[in-house]
Amino acid sequence: MRLETPRSLDEALSLLTSPGAHCLAGGQSLVAMMNARLIEPELLVSLRLLPDLRRVEALEGGGLRVGAMVTYREIADLPRENAAASLFAQAVPVVAHPAIRTQGTIGGSLCQADPAADFPVLAVCAEATIRIAGSDGVRVVAGADFFEGVFETAVEQGEIVVAVDLPALPDGVGAHYEKFMLTDGDYAVASVAALIGVKDDVCSFARVAVGGCNTEPVRSTQVEQMLVGTDLSPDLLARTGAELANACDPFDDFRASRDYRLKIIPRLVARAIEAARRKAETQND
Ligand SMILES: Cc1cc2nc3c(=O)[nH]c(=O)nc-3n(C[C@H](O)[C@H](O)[C@H](O)COP(=O)(O)OP(=O)(O)OC[C@H]3O[C@@H](n4cnc5c(N)ncnc54)[C@H](O)[C@@H]3O)c2cc1C
Repeated sequence: MRLETPRSLDEALSLLTSPGAHCLAGGQSLVAMMNARLIEPELLVSLRLLPDLRRVEALEGGGLRVGAMVTYREIADLPRENAAASLFAQAVPVVAHPAIRTQGTIGGSLCQADPAADFPVLAVCAEATIRIAGSDGVRVVAGADFFEGVFETAVEQGEIVVAVDLPALPDGVGAHYEKFMLTDGDYAVASVAALIGVKDDVCSFARVAVGGCNTEPVRSTQVEQMLVGTDLSPDLLARTGAELANACDPFDDFRASRDYRLKIIPRLVARAIEAARRKAETQND
């Protein structure tokens, strides 16, 4: 196996045309898979020295462009005035352990597309867009279309995710990520991301997505519409949670059974929405 560390995106893209070539980002999943002999790359193309992939840039209109090689640890410092960035930043302390957070990257996490991981559900909830570079330039894929199955994404052989765009959301939106895990630092049994806006005690904006337990993150605009224009009563939150659980198709694995996951999803949904609402109200005070 060879390791190359290109200094330009063009060089990296050219190296990735070799058969058996894989991008190496933080290595926190890739190297573990290599150690377990689940994957045996012939060429590793390290993205470490591509400076553009390490940048965070403000976009016109208030969004943020986060380079694919920005680490979890750096994501924790994103400006929290952007609710989408705040959602990602809040999740960092419950992702793995400090050593993994120092090396693991946003691009690597999304490209790994592990159903139990944390960032995919945040990308879907926040309507992040993923910028993918290839020999024909850069194409942009919506978070909801990026995940195509267990460990499968819209990224083709020879392409590199260069950045993740986090959109600006209406002022005063509160963000919350609720993760249920069996032990500290573990992957999720199930998790819920919520972005909630409130004006005069009435819900003005709602996005909710369930992760960690389905092939891909699950979001339902119908469920979100049930919330907008209401006072987010406990009864409604319970019904919303039940509807979202119905939209999920959780798997059975060593962490929990499908039935267990179906039981906890409604509670996690209600908790996430309530916490995001409280954060929105604090901002409006
Ligand atoms: C013990 C342990 C606990 C963990 N716990 C959690 C957890 O609780 N929650 C969680 O979400 N994750 C967890 N992880 C996974 C961790 O978050 C990984 O860091 C992350 O999944 C991969 O990011 P990376 O930068 O290390 O990518 P790498 O491991 O380098 O790459 C992962 C995959 O993505 C591809 N890739 C990487 N970057 C790009 C790019 N820019 N363009 C195209 N393809 C690319 C690689 O070729 C590879 O296939 C855990 C990992 C370990 C080892």
